[in-house]
Amino acid sequence: MSNAYFNIQEPVNEPYLQYAPGSAERAALKEVLKEQKEKEIEIPAIINGKEVKTGRTADVVMPHNHGHKLGTVHYCGEKEVEQAIEGALEARKEWAEMPWQERVAIFLKAADIITGPKRFLMNATTMMAQSKTPQQSEIEAVGELADFFRFNAWYLTKIYKDQPHSPDGMWNRVEYRPLEGFVFAVTPFNFTAIAANLPSAPAMCGNVSIWKPSPESVYSSYYVMQVLKEAGLPDGVIQFLPGEGADVGDPALESEHLSGLHFTGSMGTFNQLWKTIGNNIEKYNTYPRIVGETGGKDFIFAHNSADVDRLTIAAVRGAFEYQGQKCSAASRMYVPKSISEEFEEKLIAEVDKIKVGDVEDFSNFMGAVISRKAFDKISGYIDYAKKADDAEIIAGGDYDDSEGYFIQPTVIKTTNPKFKTMEEEIFGPVLTIYVYEDDKFEETLDLCDNTSPFALTGAIWSRDRYVLKQMADRLRQSAGNFYINDKPTAAVVNQQPFGGGRKSGTNDKAGSIANLYKWVSMRSMKETYSAPLDWRYPYMGEE
Ligand code: NAD
Repeated sequence: MSNAYFNIQEPVNEPYLQYAPGSAERAALKEVLKEQKEKEIEIPAIINGKEVKTGRTADVVMPHNHGHKLGTVHYCGEKEVEQAIEGALEARKEWAEMPWQERVAIFLKAADIITGPKRFLMNATTMMAQSKTPQQSEIEAVGELADFFRFNAWYLTKIYKDQPHSPDGMWNRVEYRPLEGFVFAVTPFNFTAIAANLPSAPAMCGNVSIWKPSPESVYSSYYVMQVLKEAGLPDGVIQFLPGEGADVGDPALESEHLSGLHFTGSMGTFNQLWKTIGNNIEKYNTYPRIVGETGGKDFIFAHNSADVDRLTIAAVRGAFEYQGQKCSAASRMYVPKSISEEFEEKLIAEVDKIKVGDVEDFSNFMGAVISRKAFDKISGYIDYAKKADDAEIIAGGDYDDSEGYFIQPTVIKTTNPKFKTMEEEIFGPVLTIYVYEDDKFEETLDLCDNTSPFALTGAIWSRDRYVLKQMADRLRQSAGNFYINDKPTAAVVNQQPFGGGRKSGTNDKAGSIANLYKWVSMRSMKETYSAPLDWRYPYMGEE
């Protein structure tokens, strides 16, 4: 048994490769893309380390070329969920007792595999499955994922070192136990890093996880499982169960052993899962920890002192990178009349330059949206705006699904601050602008605060310090991630802990120590060196 206090060096964020023309990384990535594209794979469930092929299959295709099949996925249901829970609880016996350094070493090694020999494979699979450009993939499927693993390992050591005060005569200690049972990790399509982190963060703390990846990104998730296996993750610690939502969700949430839900996805799904847990509450052995990060209706609010050139670029990147399919993507803007003409002119000029297409063509800034369902939903909003009396489309507005699910970056201008696309999460490349009278600045701040149920990200723009303070104060509860003179996207682990309030989630801040506290259960231990020999207290003595 080791008996030393082991340290983990404070990590640094993984630097991003640039993939510029002529670079070695560009050539290497193109090569892996070509190889991967030629393969058609089978994606099984992974239960107790074994591949399980259920025979209930679905095709996995590329969003930007939906005629191209990447593979076949096997879907799970009640039987596989039961097997997975039983196997995970068995694996837990050894895993929970494993010294922490042995557990975290696996994830630190996984980070090195992701940033080293499998870097281009991680990028290629995410690009193909989720239609990300090399840059969008590199920052998350490699950078953010490695950061999650490395920083969570380091945070965990800080948690374990945090010990209570011990007055004379006693020793107070706290131990940080894994939760009793299993954690159900339900993950979204849009970030490979988030998908990998949700089952892994609890596992690092000694828990076992049942991971239900999104059917829309199961391809890249499967490669993450392979990295974890290569890094030495024991069988059964993370069970990989692809499937349609409720087919896996309902039996998992029925289990008396559910000890936590680690969710990222839409508000509607989270509400559903929370309700199911509520309805099942009598069944559980323990009150499940519920962590959920959901949607956003993220704003950029400009004051008339804003730097219009920089504001324009922030709007383009904030709204249209990854086709607006980021929970943090800018989707509504408040622009004062005095600068609106200049801003719109510059914005339209930039949006017109954006190229949309196959992500293997590195000159494209945007790929396709994830699925036909997403395409129909987003184009529905665009059609709605085309027909509305109180809105007009000032850039983009076209879409085409003949080869891939392509939607042009679209800017809507409305005279109605409560226009549908100012309020609802669209999750696509659609930005709506509301122009306000300069002398209605304060009322418009109120509008921004109370227009949507979400409070995920937001950005304010001004060159006046007093105004910035006024905006930040008024919008204190409007966003969990708040940006000053910047775009509202691209949070980095250990720099901007991520999560929102209101209907954007429980704000447990992935990429920070706060998230890990949800996956441990403290045991306080008091040892007394000299316990009393008399039960009477001094006040009871004779006068
Ligand atoms: P989604 O809600 O459609 O799906 C999320 C996951 O839930 C998927 O794996 C899905 O299969 C699963 N699911 C659905 N019904 C279920 C059920 N009954 N039981 C168990 N699982 C079920 O979300 P999505 O389209 O994958 O992702 C986009 C959404 O995620 C957007 O709303 C976005 O804002 C949000 N998001 C939020 C954050 C954040 O950190 N706040 C980050 C990324 C994405």
